[in-house]
Amino acid sequence: MDMDKLVSLCKRRGFLFQSSEIYGGFNGFWDYGPLGVELKRNIKESWWRDMVTGHDDLGQPEGAPSPYEMVGLDCTIIMHPQVWKCSGHFDLFCDFMVDCRESKKRYRHDQVRGRWVSYRDRRVFVATAVEDEQQLENVQQRALKFFNLRGKNAEDLLWETDLVSLTTVPEFSQVLGPDAKEPGTLTEPREFNLMFKTVVGALGGADDAAFLRPETAQGIFVNFKNVLDSSRVRVPFGIAQIGKSFRNEITPRNFTFRSREFEQMEIEFFCHPSESRQWYQYWRDRRYRWYTDLGLAGERLRLRDHDPEELSHYSCGTADVEYAFPFLQPGDFGELEGIAHRGDFDLRSHMEGKLAKDENGCLVVELGPDGKPRHKGSGRDLSYRDDLTGERYVPHVIEPSAGADRATLAFLCEAYTEDEAPDENGKMQSRTVLKLHPRIAPIKAAVFPLVKKDGMPEIAQEIYRELKQECNVFYDEKGAVGRRYRRQDEAGTPYCITVDSDSLTDKTVTIRDRDSLRQDRVKIDDVVAEIRRRIR
Ligand code: ATP
Repeated sequence: MDMDKLVSLCKRRGFLFQSSEIYGGFNGFWDYGPLGVELKRNIKESWWRDMVTGHDDLGQPEGAPSPYEMVGLDCTIIMHPQVWKCSGHFDLFCDFMVDCRESKKRYRHDQVRGRWVSYRDRRVFVATAVEDEQQLENVQQRALKFFNLRGKNAEDLLWETDLVSLTTVPEFSQVLGPDAKEPGTLTEPREFNLMFKTVVGALGGADDAAFLRPETAQGIFVNFKNVLDSSRVRVPFGIAQIGKSFRNEITPRNFTFRSREFEQMEIEFFCHPSESRQWYQYWRDRRYRWYTDLGLAGERLRLRDHDPEELSHYSCGTADVEYAFPFLQPGDFGELEGIAHRGDFDLRSHMEGKLAKDENGCLVVELGPDGKPRHKGSGRDLSYRDDLTGERYVPHVIEPSAGADRATLAFLCEAYTEDEAPDENGKMQSRTVLKLHPRIAPIKAAVFPLVKKDGMPEIAQEIYRELKQECNVFYDEKGAVGRRYRRQDEAGTPYCITVDSDSLTDKTVTIRDRDSLRQDRVKIDDVVAEIRRRIR
């Protein structure tokens, strides 16, 4: 699939716009248009319903060690600064950056790629920061230019490697930076904190600095006790939250995939340490299935377990749900969601203070030069007492952490299809269609009178008004009916209901299916029930 076509459809039909576009846009920020907002809301609402309100607290889902409860939270974006110190984000939430002394540009160390190449007795690493599909071409062109060769001499270049990350290059003196003319202009990688800083209060002194949350999870941990004390939940249980997060990404790119403001859908699931591995397995599989159930069923979706060396210092298991986005190199996947076994790291950090591994690999409170905790915890007891067994312990946590924007983008990429459909005269015409699952489609049904006379609009409007009580419906009486179908295909509307001359006598209408193009005649009185059945 050609990403440019999807990007242009998103703009043309009002799924996504660049933020502040009339001022030239603002890198890393995106707005959802009238169709986009419905799509994203439907994704978030499906998640909330499937994970929280629709969850059966009494039953034991397949693969789960026992029944469990689910509740929700909605926390603030700005929290006490100490939260980020204890969580580790203040010290650790960094990416490594390299600057170019020549071009004055800044790049994320792990995102710069390039190839080692030599010509005669000179060897350089030609680096690039352009989008994935153009990387090879860009490197080739720049290598030719650097060695002062023409295209027809391309074969004289001796390529030593395929595209590899700049992180594989220990020293940069032979690196030709992505926008540089001479090698050796890149600085050593430097840390860069991804949290947006802000000031709380009127004075704005150093002590008033606060941060926009880079994840929603910490709001859940710091409210663990409040939820326990107020809602009668018992371990095992999960707390879910959907909300905005902010990261000052150094190189936002690939449409909304890496944005600076985005929305997360996170669950912190609290369980007994002895059962945490089983719960991890359960959530890993449950979350993967959620995507397949909503239509990401093909080979572009995968569940990948992290290698031990990839795991965070506190994690005993992490798996990513990944999607082969069309803007990535063939064979590459991008993360949609991470499911992590986090042990008791988070609750203990907020009790005791920021934790770090000691020489034996145990998590202990990290001390500062004065021998006191480097970042003091809340001092509150965040352990759990099982009132049936009397046992007291700090629960282990399984964290499925998903991005609503990345999910939206993946569903759009998967849905984008070009095929053929017959026009009014039965002639096959090419069409663009978004084959979105009916649950997430922005508009569930469109209602058309075939022509704007003979009482057809009145019947169609009545159906429209009745359906509006249930779901998002669109009424359209303008132009040829074939064109109206095409517009709905592009918007991903699964069903079109058409009132024609037969409707006046036999009180039926046609329901056209977007994907199969099948048209069924249905009694007007049954339309609402039929649409309800189909979009569930
Ligand atoms: P990446 O390695 O791609 O930066 P991450 O591992 O840092 O992602 P997490 O901290 O695990 O991501 O965040 C959980 C989820 O939040 C991700 O799986 C993703 O869906 C979403 N997410 C994280 N960063 C961004 C971003 N900059 N833009 C959009 N979504 C994001």
